[in-house]
Amino acid sequence: MIDFEIDPELQRRLDTYRMVAQQIMRPISREYDENEHARPTEFYEAMWAGSRQGGLQVGAERGGGKSTGRTLFTILAAEELSWGDVGLFLQIPNPGLGGAAVMAAGTPQQKERFLKRFAEGRPKWAAMAITEPGCGSDSAAITTTARRDGDHWVINGTKIFCTSGKMAAELSEGFVVVWATVDKSAGRAGIKPFVVEHHTPGMTVVRVEDKMGIRVSDTAALVFEDCRVPLDNLLGSPEVKPEGGFKDVMATFDATRPIVAAMAIGVGRAALDFVRDFLKQRNIEVRYGLCPQRLSAIERDFMEMEVQLKAARLLAWRAAWLLDNGQRNNLEASMAKAKAGLVVTQITQKAVELLGPLGYSRAYLLEKWMRDAKINDIFEGTQQINLLIIARRILGYSSKELN
Ligand SMILES: Cc1cc2nc3c(=O)[nH]c(=O)nc-3n(C[C@H](O)[C@H](O)[C@H](O)COP(=O)(O)OP(=O)(O)OC[C@H]3O[C@@H](n4cnc5c(N)ncnc54)[C@H](O)[C@@H]3O)c2cc1C
Repeated sequence: MIDFEIDPELQRRLDTYRMVAQQIMRPISREYDENEHARPTEFYEAMWAGSRQGGLQVGAERGGGKSTGRTLFTILAAEELSWGDVGLFLQIPNPGLGGAAVMAAGTPQQKERFLKRFAEGRPKWAAMAITEPGCGSDSAAITTTARRDGDHWVINGTKIFCTSGKMAAELSEGFVVVWATVDKSAGRAGIKPFVVEHHTPGMTVVRVEDKMGIRVSDTAALVFEDCRVPLDNLLGSPEVKPEGGFKDVMATFDATRPIVAAMAIGVGRAALDFVRDFLKQRNIEVRYGLCPQRLSAIERDFMEMEVQLKAARLLAWRAAWLLDNGQRNNLEASMAKAKAGLVVTQITQKAVELLGPLGYSRAYLLEKWMRDAKINDIFEGTQQINLLIIARRILGYSSKELN
């Protein structure tokens, strides 16, 4: 049975996140949208202080049979904070995607070594670099290489669009998990994740992207030139086995896609709340319970937006619940991500459409949410790629048979 009950202690923490979203994130949302490469250092400090007290941690953990509840809680928190500002949410000091890769691929010793430090308050960000100039959706086509040389791996290649890449590589005691091939002839089996610590010689941030949305989030391009990392920084086993390393890429996404879905839901809820307030101020009531023929067009639109958002939320909760209970959630994680990515782009566009000039004006945040929404349909697997995964799982095809 799925139990969505939140215990009072977790509810108290969620209330704190809601307060942070309302009182800390919203007031600086526009400022950092307009000054894309400015860093909200006071926000980092406040969130870092909170997370060190155990109040503001985000990250997923695979459960061992019995529910840990951690992923479910994480996505509830992600929704609250993304309601405040999804770009700022991505900037909160936390193990992020890099931490999820360590959780998915690392040995127990590596998890202890790389993740425990977050709890101790040393590194602040961990990023993950898969995407390259010639490969995004088809992550099996990675060309970055890792060659063994004595007691080191030597990494060479270029990675682009790495979320929090600059902060993890340069500005903090962070690390970047870099996916590289140890044996090109082995195809996807040869792809392995490597932890590259901040300031490692040979790792250079060559660019920070200018973007349409989530402009406060740092998105970096990184070049690795003879970048040497200790042998034990390869996460998991160095052995090249069929489906070996690539399985870990998928396991990472199974953990992170429900979180991205929750981020999308937070943005969608922000837009919906804005429309609700707008209707209220004009004494337009949404009359629930009437048959559709008796409703006005705006009432029908509003209810449809609410229904779609709730459907996406339930899918995300289910994907998280499965993960927390040690069950495979590959299908459900992609369903949640695909649904939420689609719904948030539709809701934010509809909200702008319904409110006309008010929606389009930079005096309000609605136009920003419309720009912020689209990324949820792109990173962590695009809409099309997640639909492909869903089709494969339901129809029982392999990635070779359906691509
Ligand atoms: C702001 C931002 C942050 C990002 N953060 C990270 C990060 O932290 N780490 C990281 O590694 N990457 C990151 N990415 C990269 C992101 O994951 C990729 O952009 C995404 O996976 C798509 O890859 P691509 O850009 O190469 O597009 P392509 O793979 O070239 O896709 C282009 C289009 O073709 C479609 N398409 C591709 N293959 C198929 C197919 N088989 N069937 C149907 N349609 C298909 C896609 O859906 C898309 O619409 C980020 C991107 C952005 C914009």
